[in-house]
Amino acid sequence: MDRVRLAPMNDTSAAMSCCRCEAGEHRWDRIAGRAYCPNCQEAIVLGEADPLAEKAEAHRCVVCARRGTVRFLTFPLNIQGVLELDLCAEHLRGMLSRRLGPHAFHQLQRQLRGVNVATDDIFLLHGEFYDHHGRALRPAVEAE
Ligand SMILES: [Zn+2]
Ligand SMILES: [Zn+2]
Repeated sequence: MDRVRLAPMNDTSAAMSCCRCEAGEHRWDRIAGRAYCPNCQEAIVLGEADPLAEKAEAHRCVVCARRGTVRFLTFPLNIQGVLELDLCAEHLRGMLSRRLGPHAFHQLQRQLRGVNVATDDIFLLHGEFYDHHGRALRPAVEAE
């Protein structure tokens, strides 16, 4: 898959507890099939928790088309379905830390439109985190 895809809910999209802190069953984002709650995602990008160590797959990143990606699944806020994105390490990190550059943001926005999903439907791309120019408003700040 080189494009963002909206798949119907299925057995694998059932609520799960977070694989790190075991926060209650919910439709948390999935990284390489494992569920991560927002607190644990933030702790990972801040370097407060163990980093992700997922083996890259031979797909192309939906943002930059680089080969070597990890599959990221997220459940849009107002839409029944699961959004699937293959992201390279750089863009997965940008997504989780809410600091994608404007180009990457617009690339995702364009692809989301293709499946009738708005960036505001995606928690990590919400208007609270990016302005209309795709500038990050509230990035998670990484440890130096
Ligand atoms: Zn957690
Ligand atoms: Zn990329």
